[in-house]
Amino acid sequence: MSEKNYVILAGGVGAAKLIEGLVYTIEPELLKIIVNTGDDIELFGLKICPDLDIITYTLANLVDKEKGWGFAKETFNCLNILKKFYNTGWFNAGDKDLAIHIYRTDLFRQGFNKTEITNLICQKLGVKSHIIPMCNAPVETFITTPEKSMHFEEYFIKYQYKPEVLNIELKGIENAVPVEGVINYIKNAKRIIICPSNPIVSIGTILQVKGIKNALTQVKDKVYAISPIIKGETVKGPADVLMKCVGLDVSCVGVARFYKEFLGNFIIDKMDCKLKPKIQDLGIKTYCYDTLMTNLRKKVKLAQYVVSL
Ligand code: GDP
Repeated sequence: MSEKNYVILAGGVGAAKLIEGLVYTIEPELLKIIVNTGDDIELFGLKICPDLDIITYTLANLVDKEKGWGFAKETFNCLNILKKFYNTGWFNAGDKDLAIHIYRTDLFRQGFNKTEITNLICQKLGVKSHIIPMCNAPVETFITTPEKSMHFEEYFIKYQYKPEVLNIELKGIENAVPVEGVINYIKNAKRIIICPSNPIVSIGTILQVKGIKNALTQVKDKVYAISPIIKGETVKGPADVLMKCVGLDVSCVGVARFYKEFLGNFIIDKMDCKLKPKIQDLGIKTYCYDTLMTNLRKKVKLAQYVVSL
């Protein structure tokens, strides 16, 4: 197998920013993007895969660039009617987005699996990169708060990640095996890039799929990660709260400790450069760069940097 492929481990919005830069840097066909499906959810009778959709819409150039998720120029007419019948109207499914969920659900009903469905959606939307769900088996992330246990999407969107988190549970993870070919892609990759995604509920979930962590450990020198934590804070989302919940320090050092078994190279933000020695002490080559991707130019620059190292 050729060593031309780049394997990318991805969550949603944070990952999509880097991937947008990567397709300006590497031929899109060479990207094998393994995407978290631990926040998949069924709502309104439809199968929804939030992270797969974010990455797909980004690569199909259809994404709402301001928000980083959903379709650009979206309308919400269907959702406004659905709200009359369901109390799950907090999930911001736009009209165009719902078309994808309907198509996906229809294909599931016809017997296709998640990988086949993702391939079909990508093909129809003109995505050249290979987007691969982390597994075909259903996995759902549940968050326990003092009030109740709820789906991660409810905690994230409806409750805006405000409630205290007591526990994180990945329902179904014991059945999660990688999609055929993925372990070989990792073993034979030119480079493996771990996006600046939520280390606990995006990357951490992929790492719990049987065999993935072990495969990464075998090619440690080729594994590069970008820290999603800058100056002890998340750029967006609940990574800080969830890192604390599993006993990690909220810093790029905390992320490095979490990844250290399989991480050979770590790109931290230039504002965290003073922490570089602490990470190098873990046996990880550490680089400082501007990792805040606020526009396309910065996304491309970071992608070029990661590829050039
Ligand atoms: P989600 O599933 O949509 O929340 O997205 P991800 O898991 O892919 O990414 C969430 C993480 O991305 C958060 O921890 C953010 O701190 C991080 N993130 C978002 N944008 C940036 C950025 O521009 N630079 C860096 N370094 N991290 C980012």
